[in-house]
Amino acid sequence: MTWQATTGRGAIAGQDAVVEQFVTAAARGRIGGSYLFLGPTGVGKSTVALAIAKSLLCERPSPGLVACGACASCVQAEGGSHPDIDVVAKPADRATIPLEVFIGTPEHRMREGLCWRLLLRPALGGRKVAIILDADHLSDEAANCLLKTLEEPPDRAVIILVGTSLERQLPTIRSRCQIVRFQPLSEENVLQILSAEAGTSGTPADPAVLRTCAAASGGSLTRARLLLDPELTAFRGRLVALVSRRPLHGVELARETIALVEAAGKEAPPRRARLRVVLEAAVELYRAAMRTAVTGERPTDPALARHVDAWGADGEEAARAIQITLDALESIDRNANLTVLIDSWTALLEQPSLADLT
Ligand SMILES: [Zn+2]
Repeated sequence: MTWQATTGRGAIAGQDAVVEQFVTAAARGRIGGSYLFLGPTGVGKSTVALAIAKSLLCERPSPGLVACGACASCVQAEGGSHPDIDVVAKPADRATIPLEVFIGTPEHRMREGLCWRLLLRPALGGRKVAIILDADHLSDEAANCLLKTLEEPPDRAVIILVGTSLERQLPTIRSRCQIVRFQPLSEENVLQILSAEAGTSGTPADPAVLRTCAAASGGSLTRARLLLDPELTAFRGRLVALVSRRPLHGVELARETIALVEAAGKEAPPRRARLRVVLEAAVELYRAAMRTAVTGERPTDPALARHVDAWGADGEEAARAIQITLDALESIDRNANLTVLIDSWTALLEQPSLADLT
């Protein structure tokens, strides 16, 4: 639809159902005050939120919530400098979004912060749009002070919270917002977006590589982009060699994994994302090994088959390695110290199983 074409990069392809919901609501004059966007990472939730903000604020929108892309409001929205689009997120060095993001520091209570800014008159158009990213990580006190704003948004203000799952939201927040669910993108959509991005980046991309990444993305663009990262792709090959070596060199595996994670920079999200890809690649090898041990069916990928043979694990050993690695994967989201996590993952893999000891 034309609406997508105006939002740039086509990054919301595949979220037509959500877009349609807003188009219908806008046509009926029923845009709500508080929304909670939920869905997996990398499927376009924040992109859609920004596109909706732009459309709602456009000075000359066409029917169907189509932003003109040319008015002063659209230009500022695209440049990320619109005075009436207020985006807040969890600071990288904090576990939660702190209270002051919403109501200001103790010295400036309710004289700064998002809730205060929403009370000001819109600078350009008729309304303000607030987008609260990382809504999974609202501190209890921050959530509490948001409640009143969510319940009675200032005149024509729209507040969009962006999170991943319903379980991670406080019941008080959930009950005050209209919930909008985002599904994983289709493989076709991911491929389409990756190809479009590759087209603008200047580096020619191998269509076969793009297709493989799209297929392995699980419908997440974030994951697909990570899989395209050459450093990470190279390491996946190295990793399966490391984890299938006998005996396992735990220290070496830990050292190389930590180096890869640290090379992602200081920010926690890309570091976590890298470790997730590494652990998932290990699980993929262990699963293939388990299938071979149990059913005799060898992986079709010759490289993977070679590593499965080199490892030569029985079903029980493979199952144990899968469990240890899945546990480590789960801990990533619990904000664990990644170096400690990697060390304990490799130490557990190295330990003989109880069965071997008896
Ligand atoms: Zn416009």
